[in-house]
Amino acid sequence: MATITINLDLPPDVTVTGYERYSHGHGFKVSYPLPSRCRCERCRHEENTQFEYKNGFQVVRDLDLWGQPSFWIHQPVYHRCSNCTHRQHLIPPFKRKDVSYTYRFEKHVLSLLIGSNEEEVGRRLGISAEMVEFIVHNQLADAQSKKIDPKRVITDVGIDELSLKKRHKLYVTILTDLTDAEHPEVLAVAEGRDEAAGRKCLEKLSLKQRQGVRTYRADMGKAFHNACHGLLPNAKAVVDRFHVAKNFNEAIDKQRKAITREYKANLSKAERKAFRSLMWEFRRNPKERTEEDKQKLEKLFEKLPRLRILHQFRVRFQEIFDTAPNRKQAYQALLPLFDEMVENFPDLGSFVVTFGTWEEEILNYFDDRQTSAAVEGINNKARVIIKRCYGLKSADSLWTRMVLDLNRAKEIA
Ligand SMILES: [Zn+2]
Repeated sequence: MATITINLDLPPDVTVTGYERYSHGHGFKVSYPLPSRCRCERCRHEENTQFEYKNGFQVVRDLDLWGQPSFWIHQPVYHRCSNCTHRQHLIPPFKRKDVSYTYRFEKHVLSLLIGSNEEEVGRRLGISAEMVEFIVHNQLADAQSKKIDPKRVITDVGIDELSLKKRHKLYVTILTDLTDAEHPEVLAVAEGRDEAAGRKCLEKLSLKQRQGVRTYRADMGKAFHNACHGLLPNAKAVVDRFHVAKNFNEAIDKQRKAITREYKANLSKAERKAFRSLMWEFRRNPKERTEEDKQKLEKLFEKLPRLRILHQFRVRFQEIFDTAPNRKQAYQALLPLFDEMVENFPDLGSFVVTFGTWEEEILNYFDDRQTSAAVEGINNKARVIIKRCYGLKSADSLWTRMVLDLNRAKEIA
């Protein structure tokens, strides 16, 4: 039988004592060290801990594992005060009081909010938007009260806006430490999403720390670049691939809607439903498409040839970002693509203009490709292993929803 070794990347002191399937995910029985002495929260009496164990278990949500939720199962422990008989919960080190998820689940929620909103993130994780909001509230309160250790070495940072309430236009700026790219950590947050908010975040770093930053990642807005320009004197600006793709896909989608509008109007209700799901396939990576969907899409392209051209632009763009080994080759591949795009769809010219404005910063992404290529290589191997051992279909989001340190995947493959 095939075996797989996984590194769960547990916080220090937490140990796994058992595993079982739980709901539609994974359940890990965990234990953690308990304090030998306790002070009563009611009468302040301090003594050796008087342990009391609750019958039954508490389940807390942790990060996703192979696209399925995982849970930590533990037996709640209490201290019973011998002075006033008050019973108090000994809160596990991996979660805060009165919540049913781990600290790192909270951090994960925060990172998913970049480029998204509360409703979307809630849907994706199967929790309510209110819970997302509550988590953000607690995380921001923590970050605001936390000081950055001036001795901490920070070489790469990301600066992003979070959209908390889309309708109410509530935004915060978040500064993340990307020095260890696999484990981004929140450094600072500030209200708003303008240059001042960016500066406020960066000023939490010492002068020496700011001088030590080599790259920063931001979107294609002027605000954060202006803030970083003065405060990170030695850092190279990188516009994240993710932000470029978002911008590009929005421009493509606008054209797609224009092409299909008339066609859609003549469909029956049932046909329209099938059409909508086909449009989802339009956005998907062709390599992940089933044969059946390929044929359906092909049929549609026969009816709407301009949609095919548009689709090919989309695929080519992504492929360049996936495969170009350096900035020069990326640029040489992008130029003819842009020419064709504008020739066929003049409205796509505005994307090309935006690209031109940020060309330097976008191409900087390709300078650091080596590291992400290494990650993608491991990713592909991990996928193979997972499909072979478990047959999980939802392994696609392994890295993006990431949880596992699959460094050992190389050894297994
Ligand atoms: Zn007491």
